[in-house]
Amino acid sequence: MMIEPTSATSKLAPHASLGISAKSSNAKSLKSQTEIDADKSKNKKIRYELQRHSQSLFYDRNAIKQHRVCSCHRNLTGDSIAIFRKVDQSEARIAGLVSCGSAWVCPICNAKITEARREQMQQAITAHSKAGGSCLLMTNTFPHEIDLPLDEGLSKFAMALDHWKNSRTYKRIFGTSLASIQYAETRGKPLKKVTKGEFPIVGSVRSLEVTHGSNGWHPHTHQVLFMQDESLLNSRRAIDELVESWCVSLIHAGLGDNSKLNDMLTHALDIRGGDYTADYVNKFGREPELYNGWTIAHETTKANSKAGFRNLNGDFHATPFQLLKMSLEGDEKAGALFLEFGRCFEGKRMNYWTNGLKDFFSLNDLDDEDLAAESAEVEVEEEVVLYLNAEEWRLVLKTNARGELIEAARIGGKDAVMELLDILPYIKHSHSGAYSVNRPKGQWVN
Ligand SMILES: [Zn+2]
Repeated sequence: MMIEPTSATSKLAPHASLGISAKSSNAKSLKSQTEIDADKSKNKKIRYELQRHSQSLFYDRNAIKQHRVCSCHRNLTGDSIAIFRKVDQSEARIAGLVSCGSAWVCPICNAKITEARREQMQQAITAHSKAGGSCLLMTNTFPHEIDLPLDEGLSKFAMALDHWKNSRTYKRIFGTSLASIQYAETRGKPLKKVTKGEFPIVGSVRSLEVTHGSNGWHPHTHQVLFMQDESLLNSRRAIDELVESWCVSLIHAGLGDNSKLNDMLTHALDIRGGDYTADYVNKFGREPELYNGWTIAHETTKANSKAGFRNLNGDFHATPFQLLKMSLEGDEKAGALFLEFGRCFEGKRMNYWTNGLKDFFSLNDLDDEDLAAESAEVEVEEEVVLYLNAEEWRLVLKTNARGELIEAARIGGKDAVMELLDILPYIKHSHSGAYSVNRPKGQWVN
């Protein structure tokens, strides 16, 4: 059973964008470099505002230890900070700040982490397609109910996925992943039991996502399947078997029952070809509509042009960062939902690569905190704009001006930053300016 394409990706020619570079999408090529730099800078400023809001949602004055996002890009790693900019004025950054490495609730760290995760997936897809392989995109979900708490939905969903991966049907169709067999052999510990699949899989990368819509939370996974070819898509029998066995696993885990079976058979599992995979990976972690000023109202009224945030049934669903933005705009329910999301997803992995697959493509295995940390590698030469002492930094925090600071440094350099610092004492202080010096992650002092 195949589900008909519903999104804009159906217009893509088969394989046209497989392995496409993140930097070569059509929308970007129509803009000048100056406009692209300005957009990036604007996005950074919005991310700082959203991060500040996430910090205020998670900050608990009675807690001894705060959520790690609370100290992110506030606390100093030493006793001063340095502002850098690229000599071509394309970007500026602040060095000497703590990064929290929370991919789920920190918009600043999320941008860095998802960028790195997307690049890794693109490298693997490009290498696989060059070697003659095919990548499919599989989406797993379940019928969601308004009253199902997110933590319960997530644990049952994980149980269903586990049950399914161990089912006879799954093992017979995909077999033992070829990368894991190779990995075990190169380590001198060959696997004891190997199943040869009808449609052998090299390995897969699974990403966990969640949206919130009129029927409550909607956890789902997208999985890039590294296959030898696309022949699975031509086997109706094999796909029907996978769909049916996934429904059995959902019912086993308590997510659905026989009364919903027709709906589940139609919507709970979707497998598509390579062009969808490339499109999905190219968009991974990106929320352009969010950063270009789209609000939920725009989303609902311009529903047809916004396929990216629709589920397979066509209902509107908000991403967690859209909930955060709605909360920033005054929606209390959205704020409570964002907190529930953050608490339930803390510690969960964003991407799961099957055993041996990163080695198969010779990719590094870095964790989120490494990816969020400042990178010493820069493509364009940087110059120091200015060093700020702790008191100057406190003023920036009090006036919530981190985004403005970066923008001033990028465009006007040292003079513009000094001008901004001169104005800040006269701007109404919106925040306490709390931060700490020489503090490791997660520690907060007032
Ligand atoms: Zn962070």
